Amino acid sequence: MSSTDPLGTDPLDADHPHEECGVFGIYGHLDAAALTALGLHALQHRGQEAAGIVTYDGDQFNAHRGRGHVSDNFGSKEIIERLRGDAAIGHVRYATTGEVALRNVQPLFADFAFGGLAICHNGNLTNSYQLRLQLVRRGSLFQSTSDTEVIVHLIATSLKETVVDRLIDALRQVQGAYSLVALSQNAIIGVRDPLGVRPLVLGRLGESWILASETCAFDIIGAEFERDVEPGEIVIIGPGGIRSLMPFEQRKARFCVFEHIYFARPDSIVEGTSIYEARKRIGAELARESHVDADIVVPVPDSGVPAAIGYAQEAGLRFELGIIRNHYVGRTFIEPTDQIRHLGVRLKHNASRANLNGKRVILVDDSIVRGTTSIKIVEMVRRAGARAVHMRISSPPTTHPCFYGIATPQRDQLLAARFDIEEMAKFIGVDSLAFLSIDGLYRAMGEPRRDRLAPRFCDACFTGDYPIQPTDADEGKASVQLSLLAEPA
Ligand code: AMP
Repeated sequence: MSSTDPLGTDPLDADHPHEECGVFGIYGHLDAAALTALGLHALQHRGQEAAGIVTYDGDQFNAHRGRGHVSDNFGSKEIIERLRGDAAIGHVRYATTGEVALRNVQPLFADFAFGGLAICHNGNLTNSYQLRLQLVRRGSLFQSTSDTEVIVHLIATSLKETVVDRLIDALRQVQGAYSLVALSQNAIIGVRDPLGVRPLVLGRLGESWILASETCAFDIIGAEFERDVEPGEIVIIGPGGIRSLMPFEQRKARFCVFEHIYFARPDSIVEGTSIYEARKRIGAELARESHVDADIVVPVPDSGVPAAIGYAQEAGLRFELGIIRNHYVGRTFIEPTDQIRHLGVRLKHNASRANLNGKRVILVDDSIVRGTTSIKIVEMVRRAGARAVHMRISSPPTTHPCFYGIATPQRDQLLAARFDIEEMAKFIGVDSLAFLSIDGLYRAMGEPRRDRLAPRFCDACFTGDYPIQPTDADEGKASVQLSLLAEPA
């Protein structure tokens, strides 16, 4: 793990853990590249570090990739026009493995014996270090440090005939979480790992089929949501229509519950559930579990908003926007000098005195990771005149790192792994602190409690119950999934 922010991101934002990736693919549309750019724009919350699109025009593959936002890279008509073809795939990335060099920006592309193949990946492979060692020993030459390239080499070295059989052969050797979208000369292919840890949905726009991480990418282009790609399913979309395979051993699915709590966009429907409604129910459950006398409920924007609405409705309290978020904080913002940083620049959030002065406030946020955001927010709210600050968190304490595609710091840097609740409350400076219980989380998701033997979700970040062997981490190679977090300034 690196002790400095390896990505050179906005230093004032570097104490936040960051989102993973978003994938998109479309087959059979003359505006494939433009629609992919729009779809990626809707998935921008899943990764702001880099974006890329690869198309196939019946003759050749065309690619454009770059660091930064989708609009920074695909805002120009010339670039979209150059990406000819009626099939395209695209990716937005916040690196969870590998440094962000341009060579790591997806889709990755390779020329194989059978033709070209572009591939993009949301998730993280947990045995990529081991596989990479084996492949390098056998002569594979890696072009990038991305774990996804392991899949490319496994496809290249497979002895199977067809692209799909080679892909299946490759995926049988990898462990981890993956939602993949690939583009060959005659198809786009979507795959979800057997536990379905990361989302992947299937949609339609007229005669064209679409794959995307979330349904919000369909809404932006007026496409219809058809269904989720099932855990362990491979869908192949080509000239003959759509085909589905279930080549892996059937296992109980374990979708990432943190997608519901934080990652997915509130207007997305994931696994049949509206993210917004789920977050409101989570907030209501939090109010039932740990309500405290107060005057107003204030969300930490934006991620705390739906849960705070649910909390306020359940508690019968006023909901107020006591903290305002600046949405125009870009990656290119000038790096402040240490001197300015120490003034506590309020680049992203500001507390509103008009709403907070003299009030007893319940602050609702979705999670505490290292605690650095909470410290700043609480201090800000107190300076704006709040009489009491009670923090309520709409998830259980984050005690374990994720190895499946969400960049979290190592265990010793997670506040909840270091301190008990009382110590955490003291550390962030609140009058009281409470987290949603794990059973409360499952209740909000429609179950009576967490089934300890067969839980419905991957909740490893809260329980340490890892449903997929973190092989590399067990071998002391946890840094294969990089932590994106800098040491607190
Ligand atoms: P921290 O300041 O390290 O405690 O981070 C907690 C804050 O980051 C909360 O406000 C969350 O909304 C947000 N957060 C939690 N998990 C993630 C994540 N994986 N990526 C980006 N932000 C996150």
